[in-house]
Amino acid sequence: MTALLYALRGAVGAAHVLGDGDLAAWETDWRKRYRGRALAVVRPASTAEVAAVVRLCAAHGTALVPQGGNTGLVGASVPDASGTQVLLSTTRLNRVRAIDTDNLAMTVEAGCVLQAVQQAARDAGLLFPLSLAAEGSCTIGGNLATNAGGTQVLRYGNARELCLGLEVVTAQGEVWDGLGGLRKDNTGYDLRDLFIGSEGTLGVITAATLKLFPLPAATMTALAACASLPRCVALLALARERAGPTLTGFEAMNGFSLALVRRHLPQLRQPLAPAPWTVLLELSDAESAAHARGVLEALLETALERGLVDDAAVAESIEQSRTMWHLREAIPLAQAEEGPNIKHDIALPVSRIAAFCDATDAALARAFPGSRLVNFGHLGDGNLHYNLQAPEGVAPADFLREHEAAVNAVVYDAVVAHGGSISAEHGIGALKRDELARRKPPVALSMMRAIKQALDPQGLLNPGRLL
Ligand SMILES: Cc1cc2nc3c(=O)[nH]c(=O)nc-3n(C[C@H](O)[C@H](O)[C@H](O)COP(=O)(O)OP(=O)(O)OC[C@H]3O[C@@H](n4cnc5c(N)ncnc54)[C@H](O)[C@@H]3O)c2cc1C
Repeated sequence: MTALLYALRGAVGAAHVLGDGDLAAWETDWRKRYRGRALAVVRPASTAEVAAVVRLCAAHGTALVPQGGNTGLVGASVPDASGTQVLLSTTRLNRVRAIDTDNLAMTVEAGCVLQAVQQAARDAGLLFPLSLAAEGSCTIGGNLATNAGGTQVLRYGNARELCLGLEVVTAQGEVWDGLGGLRKDNTGYDLRDLFIGSEGTLGVITAATLKLFPLPAATMTALAACASLPRCVALLALARERAGPTLTGFEAMNGFSLALVRRHLPQLRQPLAPAPWTVLLELSDAESAAHARGVLEALLETALERGLVDDAAVAESIEQSRTMWHLREAIPLAQAEEGPNIKHDIALPVSRIAAFCDATDAALARAFPGSRLVNFGHLGDGNLHYNLQAPEGVAPADFLREHEAAVNAVVYDAVVAHGGSISAEHGIGALKRDELARRKPPVALSMMRAIKQALDPQGLLNPGRLL
């Protein structure tokens, strides 16, 4: 055993330094696109243990990859293939430290699973609104390190906006206690904001103070069929106007994405007939279910009269509402069943989305005849998952290998031309690192490199990711 492994055992206990045996679950990313090899998987249980692990790795010049739930989608949470990197798993940092109901805040450790955080808030009669399909496995530390978005950004913002403070172990193994429930604190550079979205490259988040909200009295969900994307965008404007801040979800799914769900998950009932676009709307109402239903039905009636919507179904029960959300959340699964595709998680100004899709759908159809577009996402935030599936009968893996670079060039050139971003919510990781280097303005890149150099001069935290 190397001196480092010996010392790590001393720091966290031999049972929590895994070196032999099958480490595939930690070494393989969720999409099974990246498979690395770790020197060891280390599982500290406290901030002090994390600090000890980081100090030991720094003293040995050993790189360290933080990992939470390993549900990230850009290859940033697994080690590289060298067998020299230590994987630091945060899953034993899983305590809820405090809930302050008067201050609408809670402090939790980084390895808490998102669903457990939501539940702890609910048990205190409050809402933690971050919500995404991986919530049963992803951790709050991972959510913050990737600045996760999800389905309620429209109303509550993404992970960054839900965070009041952080506790971080620096690359030198010092503990920065930036926890606290302040809504206002103008005391210089915002260090918290530096670590949020840094994908484990600047420090290890060990705990966070999060914003809580009053629980809504009721939520109401509906599906609406639209003939075109501009009509979905017009429906969004109408929903904002009529529902105001009670509009908490606005998801759009193109016809092919729901056709894939129909093909691979036929047990999921689809309340509406196939349409070019289907929108899922959700209202969260402070008053009552009857009030929410009234607002939703009235807005859908106006949408039908104006020809924005051709058909609509309002959920009659919590069960029906869950089924509607399952349809949306099943799309990634249905895609995976169909075979790997070329994925893009892009952001655009809502006002440019229709023009972007018009131009880019046509360019892809010309360049890759027969290819099929799975286009769905958080339309209310201007965030699309714009994925290209191989033509029917073409092996998906071959299509991916042969055409990924060319497809990405078409999509990302169009994204930039329409004032968008190549990563809306999944981050950069290993997957988009080169794309970032090509497309981020040089001044921005050089400031990012200066920050990395200042905080992690040895370059030991998640090297090769992001920058
Ligand atoms: C089915 C599915 C649906 C998803 N839906 C969404 C969605 O709607 N919106 C969205 O934004 N994302 C979505 N994601 C991706 C999303 O980024 C992750 O699910 C989640 O935010 C990552 O959390 P994690 O704990 O799994 O982090 P990991 O995957 O373990 O790590 C992700 C990154 O964070 C770093 N990291 C993890 N923990 C820490 C820490 N404590 N300190 C420092 N760095 C750390 C890692 O090094 C890595 O760079 C989805 C993923 C899946 C599989």
